[in-house]
Amino acid sequence: MLVRCFVSLLLLAASGLAGGLLAGWPGALAGVVLMAAAGLIWESLRLLRLQAWLRELQMAHREEEPQARLLLSPPVGGILGEISDRVWRLLRTHLRAQQESQSRLQEMLAAIQASPNGVVLLDAEGRIEWCNQTAAHHLGLDASRDVRQHVAHLIRDPAFNAYVAAGIFASDIVISGRQSTPARPVRLSLQIHPYGIGQRLLLSRDVTLIEQAEVMRRDFVANVSHEMRTPLTVLSGFVETLQTLDLPPSDVRRYLGLMAVQSQRMQTLVNDLLTLSRLEGSPPPSMVDWVDASAVLAQCEVDARAISSYMGNVEHAIEMVQDAALQLCGVSVELQSAFSNLVSNAVRYTPAPGRVVVTLRQLADGSAEFAVQDSGPGIAPEHLPRLTERFYRVDRSRSRDSGGTGLGLAIVKHVTQRHGGVLSIDSELGHGSRFAIVFPAARVRRVIEPSSLKAA
Ligand code: ADP
Repeated sequence: MLVRCFVSLLLLAASGLAGGLLAGWPGALAGVVLMAAAGLIWESLRLLRLQAWLRELQMAHREEEPQARLLLSPPVGGILGEISDRVWRLLRTHLRAQQESQSRLQEMLAAIQASPNGVVLLDAEGRIEWCNQTAAHHLGLDASRDVRQHVAHLIRDPAFNAYVAAGIFASDIVISGRQSTPARPVRLSLQIHPYGIGQRLLLSRDVTLIEQAEVMRRDFVANVSHEMRTPLTVLSGFVETLQTLDLPPSDVRRYLGLMAVQSQRMQTLVNDLLTLSRLEGSPPPSMVDWVDASAVLAQCEVDARAISSYMGNVEHAIEMVQDAALQLCGVSVELQSAFSNLVSNAVRYTPAPGRVVVTLRQLADGSAEFAVQDSGPGIAPEHLPRLTERFYRVDRSRSRDSGGTGLGLAIVKHVTQRHGGVLSIDSELGHGSRFAIVFPAARVRRVIEPSSLKAA
């Protein structure tokens, strides 16, 4: 800067000297004035260039592309250039920091958008500042239209409004979601978390499945207790009778027989419960173990005939049809349990001398169908979707009388799913029922007969 001042003074002195040499004192004065005027014009031009640059910078900033423009340094040198250069550097650092925090904010908002939970930011008055798509979906909000609206005006649920008014946010509340219908209830957990200076974070979480699981767990425990209590009550009644009364031996034998039936019933129930829990807890069936379907079917036939003869004097017409020797890939005990359950149901629910046809065949696409068709009473359509639920029975007393636990079809469904199969139930009242499991082609193979090997 000093050098610049010195040069300017030198130029003024030189122009004064030149003017003085040419025309004396007036010439010297004119020289100095001319040089000063030239300097002024020069500085003004530099100021104009600086102003144009600043305007350009301002425009670029307004159009939100400061990065590109800021790369250009100020177009002037000298003191002005140095001052504007420093200001320019400061501005650039500031804008870069601003840009970085902007992009960090965008990243954070994108992360919150990706959250499976709903997030609503509320100001100190409870007005919406921002919400993610999940919250908008859960609570029926419009992420842009509803900004600055009071949350209590938009979530019109008395429980939520009372929760907001009470101002105690230690725990959540559960309300019905906007999309909730009687057929498809949606339950939401909402909780407010205060932060900052009076601001609040409203989190929403879909707890429909958790609530359903909890209801199912409660129902399951109640059902198991009920199923156990009935035979236990009968058993303890008989025990008390035998302890208190002096009965003739024939009565004692009869009572012991009835007690044996009840204890057998409890044993069957416990076995079915254990089977179900094993199915739920064990890894999926491997793809290397092949089970001979003929052996499984043969065991089904033995069981079916035993049940039929136990049921009465007249036996069922039981027919086993197998179009080819097949092997199924999976767990032998599980397949046996599923097939036997279907065959036993068909015999138990079909009054003798009814007809039960068990078929195993390979379909055109390589898959295999195991089907049990009976000529029993059939099932009304409203029961069909719920048949595979645990403890669901169409006719409770009939199921119990025939030794049913209400878990047979639940076991069948589990085994089918674990083996990648599909269970279908076709039934019509008065026209019998057909239960079928289709196994995927990957789990089916034909047994190659030794004779055909030789022929090949
Ligand atoms: P259960 O041990 O009571 O037989 P399941 O789960 O095997 O339980 O079957 C559920 C209900 O489905 C049975 O209680 C019965 O009402 C009905 N059901 C099952 N199979 C048949 C069938 N072949 N014919 C008529 N009703 C059936």
